[in-house]
Amino acid sequence: MLKPGRNSPCPCGSGRKFKHCCLDKGFTFVAEDEETYTMQMPMTQGMREITDRSAEEFRQHFERDPGPGVPIFLGKYLYSERDLERETVAAMKTAGIDPAIIYAYKKTGYIQSESHLDSYTGAAIAEWDEAIEEFDAHGGEPDEGPEARLFDTTLASLVDEFESLIFALGLANDNYFNAMQVASSASKQESSLTVPQYQALCASRVHRTLRTIRVLEEKHLSEDMLKLARSIYESYLHMVVIQRVPSAVETLVDAVIGLRKGTHQYKKTKDGGDDKRFINELASGRMIPSQISTFKMAEASPYPEDIPFFDFFYSTTSQLIHPSVFSLDAYVSSRGLDPVKPHMHEEAIVFTACAAAMVVDWIPLMDGCPGQVASDCRTVVKRIRTKLLCLLELLEVWTKRIGAHKSELGIIRARCLRLAEG
Ligand SMILES: [Zn+2]
Repeated sequence: MLKPGRNSPCPCGSGRKFKHCCLDKGFTFVAEDEETYTMQMPMTQGMREITDRSAEEFRQHFERDPGPGVPIFLGKYLYSERDLERETVAAMKTAGIDPAIIYAYKKTGYIQSESHLDSYTGAAIAEWDEAIEEFDAHGGEPDEGPEARLFDTTLASLVDEFESLIFALGLANDNYFNAMQVASSASKQESSLTVPQYQALCASRVHRTLRTIRVLEEKHLSEDMLKLARSIYESYLHMVVIQRVPSAVETLVDAVIGLRKGTHQYKKTKDGGDDKRFINELASGRMIPSQISTFKMAEASPYPEDIPFFDFFYSTTSQLIHPSVFSLDAYVSSRGLDPVKPHMHEEAIVFTACAAAMVVDWIPLMDGCPGQVASDCRTVVKRIRTKLLCLLELLEVWTKRIGAHKSELGIIRARCLRLAEG
């Protein structure tokens, strides 16, 4: 077994001679060829227990022993490295660990303690010490200016607003929607839904979706958050179109209920099949379009900014919702296809807050909205508007972290400026 020479440079890469660096550590270097060495460490009792437990878990799932080439730690299919880091950092913060240590852990990926120094290479110890010094000197990443820190704190406080949005919707539900007796109207076969009743139903959907998003956010399941943010946005479009385009009630409510009740039927083609583009109101023979395109819905908005917002947000999220070659980037990392790869977290928070604020902002515009409900909705929306605008000002951070373009941020910003205006 070939070992590094005492006076040769240490294979750990510290730049020091082997005899002054890793010669007397709790691990050895074994040469693969003249240039490359691998580190070998005796397996401790603790490590043995962990591998035994993982092998047992493997057997429970597959009813066989893990063979060669099979990862024994199946957790890597559940969590990304970033997920594990985040959980560790959270646990360290709860335990009151020195922020310098937390910083060094995030920077190096390991937690060094004085008592275990002989299991770390000279290079690893130097890297750790450097991180601690960096924290003492700058309080964090030296290249990250105050803008990046403002970005992080604002983003975190935007997440707290998800709860405010839910509560605003909850108060609207108790003090406004349920006074309209949506439930009893919908269950009575003969009656249909009024415009505000249909809007209340949309708002209820958003309320439920936001509850799910809160759970996803905790685990940074960001791409699926974004998919749900799009569903919130679609509820917004429905709330807009049904209020602004009188015939929308026929398509979205009357025809849908009519198909079930038998007062309406799909238009018939020459050979007796269904032409699903139109619905026939049997009593009058009138043809009602069976769908309103989402673009038409966006066009119905009183805010011209809703059109560019639609174009940008709808196409971006389409790539996530439907199988698309454009989503490839999101799924590829250095190890190939990588479903646990962290992806679009900042975007998911911003779009959720933005779309949900658009919904809550619309409630005061609904027919008969009580003053207190309107005022509570606006209070929450105003606060979110301020935070969104603050975030969207930080162009440099967006570009550096996400590669976002100024024009894209401008589109979202323009729509956010309309919030709390009504
Ligand atoms: Zn070394």
